[in-house]
Amino acid sequence: LESSSSNAEESNMIVAVRVRPLKALECTRNITNVVHVNSNNNELTVQAGTTADASAGVTHFFSYDQVYYSCDPELENYACQTKVFEGTAQPLIDTAFEGYNACLFAYGQTGSGKSYSMMGIEALDDAALDGNAPHAEAGIIPRFCHELFRRIEMVKHKLQVEIEVSYFEIYNEKIHDLLCVQQAAVASQPDVGMQRQALKVREHPIWGPYVVDLSVHSVDTYAALRNWLAVGNSQRATASTAMNDKSSRSHSIFNIVLNLTDLRPNNNGADVNLDPGSDTILSTRRSKISLVDLAGSERISYSGSNGERIREGVSINKSLLTLGKVIAALADSRKVASGSTPSTFVPYRESVLTWLLRENLGGNSKTVMLATISPASLHVEETLATLRYACKAR
Ligand code: ADP
Repeated sequence: LESSSSNAEESNMIVAVRVRPLKALECTRNITNVVHVNSNNNELTVQAGTTADASAGVTHFFSYDQVYYSCDPELENYACQTKVFEGTAQPLIDTAFEGYNACLFAYGQTGSGKSYSMMGIEALDDAALDGNAPHAEAGIIPRFCHELFRRIEMVKHKLQVEIEVSYFEIYNEKIHDLLCVQQAAVASQPDVGMQRQALKVREHPIWGPYVVDLSVHSVDTYAALRNWLAVGNSQRATASTAMNDKSSRSHSIFNIVLNLTDLRPNNNGADVNLDPGSDTILSTRRSKISLVDLAGSERISYSGSNGERIREGVSINKSLLTLGKVIAALADSRKVASGSTPSTFVPYRESVLTWLLRENLGGNSKTVMLATISPASLHVEETLATLRYACKAR
């Protein structure tokens, strides 16, 4: 049994796994479902080596904080978008209101359901643009944003909340702004889309690493935020088409910053709940939530690859490897959190991704890793690699 579960209540790291359904085409190609979930106990099994002969397989057992089985809507334990959101991202809204940072990232091979989970499927007549609730197929990001504004509305008599968003991607260790209006026109021309300026990372003495010249947008309604999301998604898609489906090979990071100001600074904080552990209430706070759709985790075959592909493969692997090292080091440092033990070295600076997520991964931040997998026998090796990566987060 490979396990990543612990006392989730106490932990700053939650590891969740989501299994997507078999696709229609997979069903017609003699591909079988090799992933099974033991209902409600957050364990799953994978039958390996079964493509030709089921009896030759080895059964691998895994256990996580949360397991979402999204294979068949007819099944009782089917996990829809709402259920995944409520279990993974919704609790991070409390974290944000308490003034702590948080990070949720989707990890898995291309085609395993990262974008479906993070962004979901857009409705053609997108009612969300009017500020209405996200529709059934909407993913974590629009749901999170919608819920955030619903909560702001509920506390506005006692708490002023200013929201700023930014959205960028990291490709080959280079950062590209997805919300830069001046560059949108350039990026929409496929041949020049990739010549967009790459941005640099610097370190702010208080707020930590940040992207220099990244555009940041204040939003005060869900509809406004949703508009920026649409701008970023279309820039991402355009650049991706220009570069042969680059999106599966880049990380996208959607940041939401909350600037919280207590409008009743002299009360005892009990109902404001900015800092439940403290008597002295701080009147302003800031928290950052990063929602990340990582590059596909599949190993790249270098045979026949050109120089660009090889460089790209190396940098994807490096940042996913570093992310794995960082979360493993954080898990270790929590295990030895006895005070006297010197803290484990956390190699944040080994990749742009982890450097930028530093303030969202360590300390009091809450992190959710959503590992997405395919149930198909065809993908069993990548599925096992993803499940093992997810286990190392503990
Ligand atoms: P990734 O972002 O990991 O490359 P996608 O999110 O694009 O993968 O998913 C690949 C395909 O599978 C898409 O057509 C998507 O709609 C579908 N899919 C993924 N997860 C689910 C799910 N849980 N339920 C229904 N369809 C899904």
